[in-house]
Parts: sequence; structure tokens; C-alpha cells
Amino acid sequence: MKNEITVKVKPRFIKKYKSGFPLIMKEAIDSKGQEMKEGMIVTLVDAQHSFIGKGYVGKQNKGFGWIITKNPEEAINNVFFKRKLEQAFVKRKSMFIDEETNAYRIFNGEGDGIGGLIIDFYDGYYVIHWYSEGIYAFQKEIVEAILQQVNCKGIYEKKRFNTGGHYIDGDDFVDGTPAQFPLIVKENGVNIAVDLNDGAMVGVFLDQRDVRFQIRKTYAKDKEVLNTFSYTGVFSVAAAIGGARKTTSVDLAKRSLPKTIEQFSVNDIDYEEHDIIVEDVFAYFKYAKRKEKKFDLIVLDPPSFARSKQRRFSVATDYTALLEEVLAITNENGMVVASTNYSGFGMEKFKGFINEACQNQKRKYSIVDQYSLPKDFKTHPQFKEGNYLKVVFIQLKN
Ligand code: SAH
Repeated sequence: MKNEITVKVKPRFIKKYKSGFPLIMKEAIDSKGQEMKEGMIVTLVDAQHSFIGKGYVGKQNKGFGWIITKNPEEAINNVFFKRKLEQAFVKRKSMFIDEETNAYRIFNGEGDGIGGLIIDFYDGYYVIHWYSEGIYAFQKEIVEAILQQVNCKGIYEKKRFNTGGHYIDGDDFVDGTPAQFPLIVKENGVNIAVDLNDGAMVGVFLDQRDVRFQIRKTYAKDKEVLNTFSYTGVFSVAAAIGGARKTTSVDLAKRSLPKTIEQFSVNDIDYEEHDIIVEDVFAYFKYAKRKEKKFDLIVLDPPSFARSKQRRFSVATDYTALLEEVLAITNENGMVVASTNYSGFGMEKFKGFINEACQNQKRKYSIVDQYSLPKDFKTHPQFKEGNYLKVVFIQLKN
């Protein structure tokens, strides 16, 4: 079997790739009928056959593969993967010194030089996210490189290469010593319970670390807090530790109830002093309006797409309306932490939605804080979609 292939970049894309764009897009290449099989090494050249970049074939919703080296001589082998991982570890060295936090993103895809590969670290346990069969073809080399790390207790994996980028269910343990779950990790001194072998999601989204810290440190004290789309309730825990009078967590998933109780409990907080509600947020908004319930601080971090009995929701078209519902139950001088991880638009457009919602609801506001990805979620300067997180702290005024 031929494992290497050379393809031409179409003339109108040459500039983009020469300036460092890492994603191999289907429309940008001419493979001249050659079959591009998962895991093949692919060299991109221009019409004159001069070298542009080298990468691997890995089909995912975003494209056909990723360029991973600009050096034609560089071999893609275990030495290559080991070096990439080491470079990524070195860049995050300062984070390892912090004894209050032991859960990070260790390798962030194209931001660390290999698109389609993400590795998270949870107190000695590594979770590898494979975004295509192509990158999974290098599993042996990559696992070997991780096992050589002194602090590696065990490795888990998430295969996210089913149709549409969906997670393939199964036993996710790969190597090392299996962990006992829940595993309790630390984030700025707060305990977070995770389970690395229980489906696609582990119980926390690490990219919101700085946002949780800011809520806890600056904005939660004495507040009545509503956490919508609360998942395992870690925003609620941060608010409670920050001195919130009470938190209310609302999520549609039945599992969110025991998972949220667990997050409170591992921090020695009496969960019975907080409300944990399993319900569609849209139904909850109606209920709160009817009861004239209002909150001082509302966290709004919905999934990019959601479907419930009540309606279909897409961040791209419905964020303004959703925020309006939230504003209707936010106190006069309250605050909304508006967040989205949708990569299809940037911060400016997001702020446009926020402005529109506040205007429609005749609410004056100022933006007092804003966040994008934390520093361990390294992004690629030529790949803007990778910088997906947008969080805006909206201070309402009368
Ligand atoms: N904000 C959370 C992550 C949210 S993940 C955090 O940072 O931890 C998205 C969550 O939205 C999932 O837990 C899912 O169950 C929930 N969800 C999706 N549609 C919903 C709806 N209509 N009402 C309430 N929750 C919903």
C-alpha cells in the first residue's frame, strides 16, 4: 500500500497555504483522482511542484486533513510526535507549577501544530481526543510519547470520528493504571469531579476556567445566581464558593441532577441549600416570569445547537432571542455572563447580538469583562475558527 501522496493546491488557494493556513480543505486541492486514505502522509505542492507543506489525511467535518510540517525533510514518525508533545508541554510549564490547578489542555490541535489531535490532562491522567480516523492511525506513536512523560498515570481516549464528528461509545481506557472515578481534580483550589470513561464529556469544560474564577472572585458575592444549561453545575459551585446567596442550576439532562449534587458535595457545600432543576430552560423562563422570580447574576452558556420538546435552538440564529428571555428575569442592576463556543462568528458579531437584545429589552448596559480561550488552549494565528470561545460579562444599569 502506498502511504504517501502528493497533491496540488489550486492556484487561488496557494497564498492562503503559503501564509500558514493549516487545514487541508477539499475544495483547495486537486488530487488528480488519487485516493486519499485516512492516515496517509500528504505533501502539498503548487503548480510548479514546489513544496508548500506536509500533513496527514484525516477526514473530519472541517476538511480533509491537516498540514503538520513546513519542512519537506521532516519525517512524520514517533520522534516527530514526541517532539511536538514536548514543545506543547514546555509552553505550559508555568501552569504546572500552580498547585491549585491540575487539569489543563496539554495539546490543542492546530494551535500546537497537529490539527485533529487534542490532549487534556487531569491530575496525571491523559485524555486524547481523536478527531479523525487519520490521526488515530498514529495512535501507537502518540500513546508511546505520552507514556514517556514522568507524570503519566494513565491514558484514556475519545474517538470523535463517527459521521458528523460524533463520539464513538466504548471503553475509553488505553494504557497505564485505570483511575477510580469520580476522579477529583483541582481548579484554582476548587474540587471538580470528573469521569474520564463515561461518554464523550468528562464533567467539566476546561476552557471556562478563567470565567469560573472571575465569577467566584469578583461577581458572585451575595448574589442570587441562575446557571442555565448548567450541565454538571460547575459554574454554580464557583458562584457558591464566591459567596452567592443561592444558586439555581437548570439543565434538561436527567444526569445533571446527580452530577451537580456530586460537584457541590466534593466541595463540602450543602447542595440542599441550592436549587438543581431538571427542566428545559425555555420552560423555566416561562415559570420564572409567571412567578416574577428575578436573579442578580445569570450564566448563559448554551450548546451551539439544541433540540428539545419545546423548540429547536441554534446559537447562530437564536442567541439574541435567548438573551432577551434571560434579560426579562435579570434584576435591574444585575449581570449576565453571556457565553458561546460557536465558531461560526467572532466576538464583534456576538457583541452585536448582545447589543440588539439589550436594545430590544430597553436595558442599558456596559461590558465589564470579556474572555476568550485560556492560555493552555493555544490557537493557530491563521486558523480563526479555532479561537471559538466568547464570554462577555454584561453589567445592566438603570
Ligand atoms: N455551561 C456548562 C456547559 C453546557 S453543555 C458548563 O460550562 O459547564 C450544554 C448543556 O445544555 C448540556 O448539559 C445539555 O443537557 C443542556 N441543554 C441542552 N438543551 C437544553 C435545554 N433546552 N434546556 C436546558 N438544558 C439544555
